[in-house]
Amino acid sequence: MQKHKPADKIQDIQFFGEYGGINPSITDSSTFTYLEGKTMEEVFGGEREGCYLYSRHTNPSTSYLAEAIASMENTEAAQVTASGMGAISSVLLQLCKTGDHIISSRTIYGGTYALMKNFLPKFGVKTTFINTKDYSQIEKSINKNTKVIYLESMSNPLLEVGDLKKISIIAKKNNLKLVVDNTFTPLIFTPKDLGADVVIHSLTKFINGASDAVGGVICSNKEFIHELIDVNHGAAMLLGPTMDAVKANSILKNMRTLHVRIKQHSKNAKFLAHKFIELGVKTFYPGIKDHPSYKIMQMQKNEEFGCGGMLMIDVGNMKNAYDLMEEMQHEKIGYLAVSLGFYKTLFSAPGASTSSEIPEEEQKEMGLSQGFIRLSVGLDNDIERTFEKIKSCMIKRDLI
Ligand SMILES: *Cc1c(COP(=O)(O)O)cnc(C)c1O
Repeated sequence: MQKHKPADKIQDIQFFGEYGGINPSITDSSTFTYLEGKTMEEVFGGEREGCYLYSRHTNPSTSYLAEAIASMENTEAAQVTASGMGAISSVLLQLCKTGDHIISSRTIYGGTYALMKNFLPKFGVKTTFINTKDYSQIEKSINKNTKVIYLESMSNPLLEVGDLKKISIIAKKNNLKLVVDNTFTPLIFTPKDLGADVVIHSLTKFINGASDAVGGVICSNKEFIHELIDVNHGAAMLLGPTMDAVKANSILKNMRTLHVRIKQHSKNAKFLAHKFIELGVKTFYPGIKDHPSYKIMQMQKNEEFGCGGMLMIDVGNMKNAYDLMEEMQHEKIGYLAVSLGFYKTLFSAPGASTSSEIPEEEQKEMGLSQGFIRLSVGLDNDIERTFEKIKSCMIKRDLI
């Protein structure tokens, strides 16, 4: 069988605009006309498919973007949402009801952690947070109410990679849905091919890559996506996390360069990782041999795209982290900002920002340090020069 190649799938997409334009036209209409009242009745009743009705449900512009991402992720269908959290909350509320139970990796995006830890218990949905590298712990945590195993294909902020094949076997055996957040590694991993049932992205990050939009997507089989947008029962319909048509069109256009960008992000991050290690700076990058996920990274990744643009260093304490980040921003190396996937390098201290929802005690237990700096490495043309600039910043602030 021909192996699924995500970049080729994107390459083969060819939409036409309303007047034969080579870009699809933007359909910025909230509602759609019908020539006959009877047809509308049939669409509402679910007897007729393929007609647009109202843009909270579907819209041609959001459908184009969804189709492109579904092709990349090798899933039958997809639904775009107004944010990554809109996608995550819709999926979990669709899969779980009062009394149900989720097993989640403990190293996840802070917002997702807060949703499971603080918000979902209001509806009687409980979560057990575990180390998903420990497979016996996954099996031990399963009870009769468990519905979902949740993890990030590359975890935030330690950049650990879960063995999706192994975990999907546990999920299937116990009739659980495996939900994977693939935000850090589009094109690099295809979680569906490794056994995931639902794949989520925050489009805000690498896929859009311009840091000018917030968006999300849910990729899965047709049945689940139809359930999600069901007018009577669907979380993505009833909670209203709808993406705007104009934004969808803009994200679709940015997505066309994703393969070029990911290669450059990966190349630059790997270069910096090696250089930081040479300098004696504690470095986390899954593309270097001493990272705990090196082997599984090599096994699971699609060729060509490298090991991703995320990199983390430990400079000992928070004061050092702030010093270095402020200096790097001053030297125009990038921005002291959360988020990822921008053309310039973005850096932040996860302990005080993206992982701050996780209590300090738990952060320690997970191996998070207050001296961590997470870098989303940019598309710099001359990364050697960038490294020399970072090194100068470190010397200036007495870090090396
Ligand atoms: C940013 C992020 C999210 C949340 O996405 P938003 O678009 O900000 O709602 C979820 N998961 C991961 C891994 C992220 O980096």
